[in-house]
This record gives sequence, structure tokens and C-alpha cells, in this order.
Amino acid sequence: MAIREILLLGNPQLLEKSELVGKSELEYAKSVGEDLRDTMAAFRKEHGWGRSIAAPQIGVMKEIVYMEFNQPELLINPTLSDFSEEKMELWDDCMSFPDILVKVKRHKTCRISYMDKDGKEISRIIDNAEAELLQHEIDHLHGILATMRAIDGSSFALQSQRHLLDQSEFANQV
Ligand SMILES: [Zn+2]
Repeated sequence: MAIREILLLGNPQLLEKSELVGKSELEYAKSVGEDLRDTMAAFRKEHGWGRSIAAPQIGVMKEIVYMEFNQPELLINPTLSDFSEEKMELWDDCMSFPDILVKVKRHKTCRISYMDKDGKEISRIIDNAEAELLQHEIDHLHGILATMRAIDGSSFALQSQRHLLDQSEFANQV
């Protein structure tokens, strides 16, 4: 268990693809999950937001996501499918560029499939804030950042200007 350094925008490692976790690496994945949990907790303490984090953000190039949505959850080798045609536009944030907001489009609903910390296969439909969160995190596993999903050139803002933006264009963050 350790608080790790979060890689920041500009670090080329954030643009690399992560590798699948093998069945024999479950214990390792769990220890990465503990570091992700501790790192996110430290970030939240400082910034007041952050509900999910992907392993490459702490320099571990493995397909692992840690999320605290309804409950703490470790998602190993997560994949998305069954995307809804309906999309939502929202201002997205990221622990790898905590001062910047980016307006992106995300599918309103989709299916998440993954292995949990005990190696159990799970598959379920997610929507809205949870769907947005996991589309963001799974992009990280593929080396894709929210900045690369910006709708257009006017889709960037500083966090300090957040109060000037349309508040309905935020997912239920924090
Ligand atoms: Zn992020």
C-alpha cells in the first residue's frame, strides 16, 4: 500500500497501451489496486474530487481500474460494449490534468465486463455518471486521454473558471 505519483499530461507514458492482467497476476493486480486506492484518496484530500483512477496513471501499464462509485471496486481487464446511440455532452476532469476541464461526448449507456478482485467475471449495464466515468478510465488503458476526445477547440476550460460554465453540463461529480 502506497501513495504513488500521478503521471501528468505531457508524460508520453499516458499515451501508451496497457497490457492484460493474466490469471496468475491476480495478487499483483490487488496490490496495484491498493496503491490506486491510496493514491486516489490522497488526491481527493487535496482536490476534493476523483472517483476513479486507472493503473497507467501511476505508471503501471496493466489493464486495471479502481473506482469508488456505489462501493469500492477493482476492475481487472475491463471492456465496454453495447454502446447506446444516445450520447451526452459533459465537462470532464482528470487527475492527470487536475487544472483543466474538457468537454467531451460519451455514450449514455453501455455494458462493462471485467474480472473482480477475486477473479470473478462480471458483466453489467451502466449509465450516466458511472458510464461516463468508466468510458474515461478505459480510454486510459488504451492510451487515450479526455483531451483527445475534446468536441472542438472551445471545449477546454480551467477548473478555476468552472463557476462560469453551464452547471448542467457536469456529471454528478465528487
Ligand atoms: Zn483520467
